Amino acid sequence: MPFLRRRPITFVNARVVGQDAVIGRSLRIDGPRIASIDNIDSGVASAVIDLENAFVYPGLINAHDHLELNHFPRLKWRTRYENAREWIADFQPRFATDPVIASALSHRLSDRLLIGALKNLLSGVTTVCHHNPIYRELGRRFPVRIVERFGFSHSLEIDGPKIRDSFLRTRSTQPWIIHAAEGIDEEAAGEVERLQRLGCLGPNTLLVHGVGLTETDRKRALSRGAGLVWCPGSNRFLFERTAEVAEFSGHRRLALGTDSRLSGERDLLQEIKVARELSALPAPALFRAVTCDAAALLRLPAGGRLQPRAPADLVVVPSEHDCPFEALAAANRSDVALTMIGGEPRVADPAMSALFETSGIRPARASVDGRPRLLDGRIATRLARSGLQEPGLVVQ
Ligand SMILES: [Zn+2]
Repeated sequence: MPFLRRRPITFVNARVVGQDAVIGRSLRIDGPRIASIDNIDSGVASAVIDLENAFVYPGLINAHDHLELNHFPRLKWRTRYENAREWIADFQPRFATDPVIASALSHRLSDRLLIGALKNLLSGVTTVCHHNPIYRELGRRFPVRIVERFGFSHSLEIDGPKIRDSFLRTRSTQPWIIHAAEGIDEEAAGEVERLQRLGCLGPNTLLVHGVGLTETDRKRALSRGAGLVWCPGSNRFLFERTAEVAEFSGHRRLALGTDSRLSGERDLLQEIKVARELSALPAPALFRAVTCDAAALLRLPAGGRLQPRAPADLVVVPSEHDCPFEALAAANRSDVALTMIGGEPRVADPAMSALFETSGIRPARASVDGRPRLLDGRIATRLARSGLQEPGLVVQ
């Protein structure tokens, strides 16, 4: 059977967002990639979508999640913990006895992972760094991109000295990721020094959380080239405090993550809002932490920016703001008019139904927090069979 080439798509009347400013008014997509920005005269007829001055951003990168844990409610049993170890210890006896936890764990892994995918897609995330094994269910047909090449340990507390083997097994060209300094006590504060003594602090080390990092620790980590994945919502929920991130941001070594909904916010757009509340980082720095800087730390050379030949992973947000970065920081998931991965729409405003036609994907009518949307029909079918629901998403 001949390969049917997808019709190109041209977005016009757009505000295409680069690393520092709006860089164009139109963007053309050919197959799974961006063909051009502000150069639509290729001679091949395309489907034209008028974005009516909406911003087009690179697809957002969520640098930390546990995709199978997003159908749980937020859970804790103390007002404030000193250390993540205490929170994990509170979980252990409840796995079998707490009906909420037992019920959530009874669902199939593939169904649980689908809720993780939806959480991210609805908020404009196109790539997720899932901090757990790359399960078979996260293969080619999974609806959101997954970072595939990285090494990881859970934490010094759970994996102990084994982490050294994990670090050494990880290629220096790939990130090695670990929960570290996740707490506000001395134990958390000592973890970066322990990592250094174990030889696990290098340019490919990514510390997740870093709440307990001292100034010395931050300098130590940055002098080795390590980066920080910041999950401010989770930190505030568990510890009523978060990490000092300004130096990491200044060195372009900061990425933002959600963690799972067990402790984090609903999605990455909500994390951006908490990040603004808890830090003095300006909106452009937060934008970089969910796009180009996250891509650099996760060693994704094609990710986090809109440019010719890059994968057509993008998110469209209409806004009255003049500044694209303020607009993103103010956006909620119901403002996301399009999440596209590899040139295929996953969720879109009904005005962009032509995207589904050119892609040959049957859309399902849906609403997200009351706004009408079209959802990739394959996702809708899987969701209907799953027995799980994404709160706020109604599929007709
Ligand atoms: Zn985590």
